[in-house]
Amino acid sequence: MSETMAELVGFDEAIARYDPLIGLETHVELGTVSKMFCGCPTGFGAEPNTQVCPVCLGLPGSLPVVNAAAIESTIRIGLALNCSIAGWCRFARKNYFYPDMPKDFQISQYDEPLCTDGWLDVTVHPEGAPPSQLRVEIERVHMEEDTGKSLHKGGATGRIHGADYSLVDYNRAGIPLVEIVTKPIAGTGSLAPAAARAYVTELRDLLRSLGVSDVRMEEGSLRCDVNTSLAPRGSGSWGTRTETKNVNSLRSVERAVRYEIERQAAVLDAGRRIVLETRHFHEDSGTTTAGRSKEEAQDYRYFPEPDLVPIAPSPDWVAELRAALPELPAARHARLQSEWGLSDLDMAALGNAGALDLVAQTVSAGAAPAEARKWWLGELRQRANTEGIELTALAVTPAQVARVSELVASGGLNDKLARQVLDAVLAGQGSPDEVIAARGLAVVSDDSALLAAVDEAIAANPKVAEKIRGGKTAAAGVLLGAVMTTTRGQADAARVRELILERLGQH
Ligand SMILES: [Zn+2]
Repeated sequence: MSETMAELVGFDEAIARYDPLIGLETHVELGTVSKMFCGCPTGFGAEPNTQVCPVCLGLPGSLPVVNAAAIESTIRIGLALNCSIAGWCRFARKNYFYPDMPKDFQISQYDEPLCTDGWLDVTVHPEGAPPSQLRVEIERVHMEEDTGKSLHKGGATGRIHGADYSLVDYNRAGIPLVEIVTKPIAGTGSLAPAAARAYVTELRDLLRSLGVSDVRMEEGSLRCDVNTSLAPRGSGSWGTRTETKNVNSLRSVERAVRYEIERQAAVLDAGRRIVLETRHFHEDSGTTTAGRSKEEAQDYRYFPEPDLVPIAPSPDWVAELRAALPELPAARHARLQSEWGLSDLDMAALGNAGALDLVAQTVSAGAAPAEARKWWLGELRQRANTEGIELTALAVTPAQVARVSELVASGGLNDKLARQVLDAVLAGQGSPDEVIAARGLAVVSDDSALLAAVDEAIAANPKVAEKIRGGKTAAAGVLLGAVMTTTRGQADAARVRELILERLGQH
């Protein structure tokens, strides 16, 4: 399919003339031990076609059996998203041919989803503006099975176009998948890209806290389709939407919405119309290109799956699952903010740096919240940035940071020594206490050791000493600096200052 290189309208210009409407469809692979309708394992990265059986290969005569753990996970997701849980619902067959779908139909849910009508509150963090709250309405949460995976070999792009041959891996076929569909989100204006990202981020954190999936976008266990359409500003008459498929990072979600707004604005400005189609997002260029056209509306010939009995979760079971939900991210965030006494912006900074859990664990290990925040957002974030890694990938644990912070608070280390200790811990030289013992890094506050250094400094700086004797106590800083140099920064600075003033008769 060819498409003339899209002209774009600048984002601010597009938003000045059009209101964006976005919607998100998110697929989550559940972390169940076995597949949705058979006992095959679900581990990621196994040799192709080693995790398959007659059921997930769709061989004649094989019969599916529903995985109860997958139903339970789906209900928990629905409850966490404030949905109503159906008392009775069925699976449906979605009929279409695709080489990576061995049965030629997918077991899904159609007009009887398990969970409906919920919402998720998210905090949008636009660059250079204060955070704002947004309630995203959830249309439905339903279950289905994943397809296999096609690998197109020999081409430059990894797509089927231009490939020499294709391979199919059915390991993924039949892995439980939950699809979470939002209602259209209007009214976000220029915040639409950031709002889309904030929603997927919050949803990912929520799913992680439920423990239902490892939610790894880069491995495809969390996949996002982004719908975008525009209306002339204030008109409310929405144009045709496009559906950008499988956007596989949080940053890409934001960029895909932004790009579609700019592209659609240009198309509409030129008096042309938006085509109902799926589009592919390209990480490298940040653009989308046309995929499958939906002009010939697909008829999936949905009908109730005859091989499966309906699902009828009892109200008691649902109540039990509701009561057992863990503390969800939004509630935890609010609780920590009030316990730590931080502002919205402080909390946003922790969230953006991926430091919230690390700080929480450091505080649990005994550090003061302000200290824990200072180490992770300051010194440690700098190290992580220098190495180009996430904070969580640093070779230091929250408990170790808490220990260093405790030693600083008790006067056993000063900030400079604490940084040396952390350096050594990061370099794999052991725990903070091991490093301190091995290097003799403790602050020296023993007077006899300090006095020798003080006397040496006085002898080396007679003019300064004279000034202090004459009452200019501010000059003590010079002697303090000299003592810190001879003790390689290990002297207790407050005690050294006292000793200098005592020695020179200013006490
Ligand atoms: Zn199987």
